Amino acid sequence: MIHFVGAGPGAEDLITVRGERLLKQADVVIYAGSLVNPVHLARTKSDCDVYDSASMTLEQVMEVMIPAAQAGKTVVRLHTGDPSIYGAIREQMDWLDAQGVEYDVCPGVSSFCGAAAALRAEYTLPDVSQTVILSRMAGRTPVPERESIRSLAAHGSTMILFLSAGMLEKLTEELIAGGYAPGTPAAIVYKATWPDETVIRTTVAGLAEAAKQNGITKTALIAVGGFLGDTYERSKLYDPTFTHGCREATL
Ligand code: SAH
Repeated sequence: MIHFVGAGPGAEDLITVRGERLLKQADVVIYAGSLVNPVHLARTKSDCDVYDSASMTLEQVMEVMIPAAQAGKTVVRLHTGDPSIYGAIREQMDWLDAQGVEYDVCPGVSSFCGAAAALRAEYTLPDVSQTVILSRMAGRTPVPERESIRSLAAHGSTMILFLSAGMLEKLTEELIAGGYAPGTPAAIVYKATWPDETVIRTTVAGLAEAAKQNGITKTALIAVGGFLGDTYERSKLYDPTFTHGCREATL
């Protein structure tokens, strides 16, 4: 059996209980070396075969996984954060489907959740934004034109940008062209939940300079929006004057 497992954003204890159990059972682990915290590998059995996929192609990953699974071994494909976000798991699952090899997926804590924790922030504040856009700048992987940062920015919602920390001047330009004021609060969260986590609070206009001053070019998320500001409305859910399915208004 093959298990795709989300390793979480970095901290050793932010893998799920299920993910940890699967790692302990694994005969073969293939981990995404550039971002998975290597401490997770210490959980494997002493005779577990461990591969770093950073230097492997999809074909090579399959050449390791499929014969192992067919020999009855437990295989863990360990991805950073949650595998569904920029994890390139669809192409692996389709390959396995075509070969009739069984697999399942164990979710993980995505880095965008780790970043919210690092920021002590709520992404969905009443009267500020009720929408979180997860996206990225186009890099060597293109982004469909209808999803350009400029067009997504027009919503003025909470935005969390992956894979974009090396392109902040262009990102700022796009965010402003899309409608965010230059002074809109923004943050850079570097290595959320890792021991060397760094949080930098700035503005949309200040992003590139802040990253430069802190030497950050990768392994960071960019957060943008009014949720990083000071004003919002209280929730209805806990408002004493509001009645809902589980509670009568008391005021
Ligand atoms: N599947 C992962 C994302 C993989 S894409 C997830 O759910 O988090 C890789 C990008 O994710 C990096 O370029 C960076 O933008 C972001 N990233 C991953 N881990 C991070 C962390 N601990 N802190 C900040 N950003 C992180």
